[in-house]
Amino acid sequence: MPGHFRDGSSQSAKLWINPEHGGQALGADDGNITINDVLAAEQRLARFAPLLQKLFPELEMSKGMVESPLLALPAEVVTKGAGDHGHFWVKADHQLAVAGSVKARGGFHEVLEFAEGVALSHGLLKDGDGYEVLASSTARECFARYEVAVGSTGNLGMSIGIMSAALGFKASVHMSAEAKEWKKRLLRSHGVIVHEYPGDYGQAVAIGREQASSNPLAHFVDDEKSTSLFCGYAVAALRLQRQLLELNVRVDREHPLFVYIPCGVGGAPGGVCYGLKHVFGDHVHCFFVEPEDSSCFLVRMQHPDAEGISIYDAGQHNKTIADGLAVPQASELVYPLMRTRLAGMVVATDERMLVDLWQLKSMAGLKVEPSAAAAVSGPRALLCTEVGQQYLQASGLAPFMSAANHIVWTTGGTLMPTDEFDRLFAQGQQLASQSFACEPSAA
Ligand SMILES: *Cc1c(COP(=O)(O)O)cnc(C)c1O
Repeated sequence: MPGHFRDGSSQSAKLWINPEHGGQALGADDGNITINDVLAAEQRLARFAPLLQKLFPELEMSKGMVESPLLALPAEVVTKGAGDHGHFWVKADHQLAVAGSVKARGGFHEVLEFAEGVALSHGLLKDGDGYEVLASSTARECFARYEVAVGSTGNLGMSIGIMSAALGFKASVHMSAEAKEWKKRLLRSHGVIVHEYPGDYGQAVAIGREQASSNPLAHFVDDEKSTSLFCGYAVAALRLQRQLLELNVRVDREHPLFVYIPCGVGGAPGGVCYGLKHVFGDHVHCFFVEPEDSSCFLVRMQHPDAEGISIYDAGQHNKTIADGLAVPQASELVYPLMRTRLAGMVVATDERMLVDLWQLKSMAGLKVEPSAAAAVSGPRALLCTEVGQQYLQASGLAPFMSAANHIVWTTGGTLMPTDEFDRLFAQGQQLASQSFACEPSAA
């Protein structure tokens, strides 16, 4: 695998460009998903907003909408080298209310879609009813007979578990070895049943799937196959389009948009990329970022004929500080959708994530978890490597880079306990004394 990277330094981010990017969309690859499903998901979230406002006091201000701001990011966080690369932004999903991560949109959407189905089948929603009636004791008693289950490394469990419990469902989360204690504690405090396993994410999912299958009133949220999750994630793109408009940020041939998103199985970043390609077409360039020892999506992209290939097949061990990204296998629902849409993949070291966690806090005041800090390696890989410079030249983007916009997607972190964050912050600060300066070659 190392042969695929031209940049040999172990400390800098590594970039792989997708040779199929921009090619003819392989019609059949889109499976059953269309943009109408994403629009329907957006409308569903809007229908449920009055209910969410009632269930979660922190959603009072936003009237039940769960959305994150788009914030300006000082360029020094990304590159210390010379050169004008355009504007840097943070899509601050680490601040997403209630769930504290990018999993909020997808996870909430799937739970709400399930709740809507149950409510309609039991006549809990009459014509003209606002969805806030689903907070009634009649509705909750009905929901209590149903179970929502999920396998998770942590954040998906928080999103699914918290929302399910809030609606009154029985909620079961099957946690893999990486899952942090504080996430389990938080879930239990919401009344969620947490099962713990010593195995990896794939194993936790398999056990959860099997247990749920024995309960006819259980709904299993299948992170590797769920179109409902995917469409919920994709809603982010429609909302980002509006945020860019409000900030007068143009996206066209002369103003290319680059988006960098941390990737686990590929569901969350894949949904966002799918939506963004619909909105901006060739003018947006999406890059996923993975830990070097858990780069399952990269491994899948590099082996188009090896369905189900895992990181273990590629000699990796799934050892990373980025618990949200520690998964061995790419989603086979998402992979085909990314074949021509994804610009490339970036691989980041744990050390780099820690330094970026420290930098995001000390230079921009943002509290993110290591998985989210991985995103900062995205623009650095594009702007500071030879492979990245070649991509910009070959795509005809080089002349427009000073008018480019780069969005670093910080996917989680706000709910992290202070002592946990402080420990990582101190590690990052210590590592930062070693230098990571970027000196991009003159384009
Ligand atoms: C889950 C997660 C991701 C990636 O999402 P996938 O759907 O697994 O690709 C990125 N960042 C954080 C913080 C996450 O929890």
